[in-house]
Amino acid sequence: MSIEQLQVLRKEQSLRASDIKLVELEDETLVIDRMTGRWLLSSSETAARINRYLDPHAAGEDPAVSASLRDAGMGQPLVDSPDAPLGMLILKLTNACNLGCLYCYDYDPIHKATVADKTSFERAIAQALRMCGGKLRIILHGGEPTLVWPLIEGLVEFAESEAKALGVAVAFGGQTNLTKLNARIVQFSVDHGIAWGISIDGPPAVNDTYRVTHRGGGSHAIMQKHIEAWPEFVASCGAISTVTSANVKHLVEVAHYIKSLRIRAWDWTLFQPSGRGATGADSAFSFDVGSLMMAWRNLYQGALAGDFDGFAVRPVLKYLYNFLYGSGAYMCLRPKCGAGRELASITADGVWQGCDCIDRSHPCGEAGNVDEVDLATVRAGPGFEALRSRDLSEAAPCNACPWYSLCGGTCLAYGSDLTDRSLLHCAMAQYAYKSIAQDLSADPSRILRYMASVATR
Ligand code: SF4
Ligand code: SF4
Ligand code: SF4
Repeated sequence: MSIEQLQVLRKEQSLRASDIKLVELEDETLVIDRMTGRWLLSSSETAARINRYLDPHAAGEDPAVSASLRDAGMGQPLVDSPDAPLGMLILKLTNACNLGCLYCYDYDPIHKATVADKTSFERAIAQALRMCGGKLRIILHGGEPTLVWPLIEGLVEFAESEAKALGVAVAFGGQTNLTKLNARIVQFSVDHGIAWGISIDGPPAVNDTYRVTHRGGGSHAIMQKHIEAWPEFVASCGAISTVTSANVKHLVEVAHYIKSLRIRAWDWTLFQPSGRGATGADSAFSFDVGSLMMAWRNLYQGALAGDFDGFAVRPVLKYLYNFLYGSGAYMCLRPKCGAGRELASITADGVWQGCDCIDRSHPCGEAGNVDEVDLATVRAGPGFEALRSRDLSEAAPCNACPWYSLCGGTCLAYGSDLTDRSLLHCAMAQYAYKSIAQDLSADPSRILRYMASVATR
């Protein structure tokens, strides 16, 4: 057989050899399929053989290498799986908020407040329950959703009774600034299993830099009263902090503070320059990529050292889970993110969106009004279809990136169109995955121990 014939044969056998990437670590080499996220660690000698095997100009066969790669699930043609069914519906119940956080992507003065129309939202919930894959998670969002508490009670009870009649499961979550907590909210939330996430940026001085009232005063003292009045309820919530210039250098302290409230899970979201953040003193909120990397590294090292045992540091865990178990479960860190796929959202004035994080001025930011078009039509329509079609796998630099299947090209909501990448999220993904690969190669025990400590909680 000629060299040319051999090359053709190998090209056919190794259908996607060009997607297998090698990442040099200190003592080993990570071999990863950038499209499936499958990986293995190899010695440098084996890595050299793999390199030769993958070289389209090399003539030699190497059945052992071929078998190893295939056994690890690498180099296989991608099978297009059907899109996941709808699993999450976000209800923006009002765009009003009693706080005036300076960076708020949802900010609207209270006198211009819009409150969701109950009948329209009930109709949307009924549509979502009929097209979900047996289970729907409804997220109660705002503005500050607890400002319209009676509406929440009505919609939750409607969804429960509709789900029961249809034989599907429904679960509820929500995001609150905790400043309007009262006994009625606590009791109803407990009775109906509403899992709240609390928006808090850290201990008082850090939190109050940007999370302020409309008069400019800090919001932490208001939250503190409720933390002291309902400590068990607060401990049952999760927490999320927006990373800004005010807290980026204090995120380990922020995590420890949240842990001290006996809250078991904490996440971050990176400041998004939209809403009030886009029109205010925008540069004041942003931070440099080096500070973010340092913050992540300190959190990660703290978790590995046992400082956060039993406390889910999600900025670390989401990368760990993705790397170890493959992308998919976390809808924001993969190609084909949840927007317009598992996820649909409704603004307080009744506009369908593929994801509530997408600014309404984005080319795919709005997909029709709930009173004019139903969810099935919206999901099949051009706006949601455009979101689902986003694919950066062939666009530089993602087309050569080993982490593509574990990143997906970053959250589209941070870009002005579907081809944009967030440079911050890109740098974060590269740094996190390389760090994790290095530690798994050197000594996986600390990673596995931390993950086990969180899983057993
Ligand atoms: S960030 Fe949340 S709590 Fe702050 S003003 Fe916006 S909606 Fe209100
Ligand atoms: S648009 Fe961004 S936040 Fe929304 S599902 Fe996609 S990755 Fe997640
Ligand atoms: S956005 Fe960055 S990390 Fe993500 S796939 Fe593209 S190049 Fe890789």
